[in-house]
Amino acid sequence: MTDPQKPDPNAPWCPKCEGHTETEWVQAGDSGRNVHQCVSCGWTAFEVGKLKAKTSAAATNIFFLTLILFPILVVVGIVTGNWYGSLVGLVAVSFLALFIYHFTVRQPAKIRERWLVWAKERGWKEEKPKGK
Ligand SMILES: [Zn+2]
Repeated sequence: MTDPQKPDPNAPWCPKCEGHTETEWVQAGDSGRNVHQCVSCGWTAFEVGKLKAKTSAAATNIFFLTLILFPILVVVGIVTGNWYGSLVGLVAVSFLALFIYHFTVRQPAKIRERWLVWAKERGWKEEKPKGK
């Protein structure tokens, strides 16, 4: 096993233990999605190196989802004349988008920031993009 205090963006990192602890690849609830689970505390561990790509993909999905849902709700309002219902729908979609954004984009981004601080304390240097 590798040193849990040696920063490695490709290894799962537990935000609670603050280290690259030993993890298990388990299913997250009934979601059918697998996550790395810290063996010592049971928290979800993240592969920090993949978080950035994942969060930007999630942000794009949320953006397009609201982009599609907003006009639909406006059209529904026009067709049915139920502007109140349409408005409630718009607000609901906005809140839902913010809610999903928080858990799929904001939280992983925070964990990544925490990892960066943690890693830099241990002498890890962020790789600069090559070229130029
Ligand atoms: Zn842990």
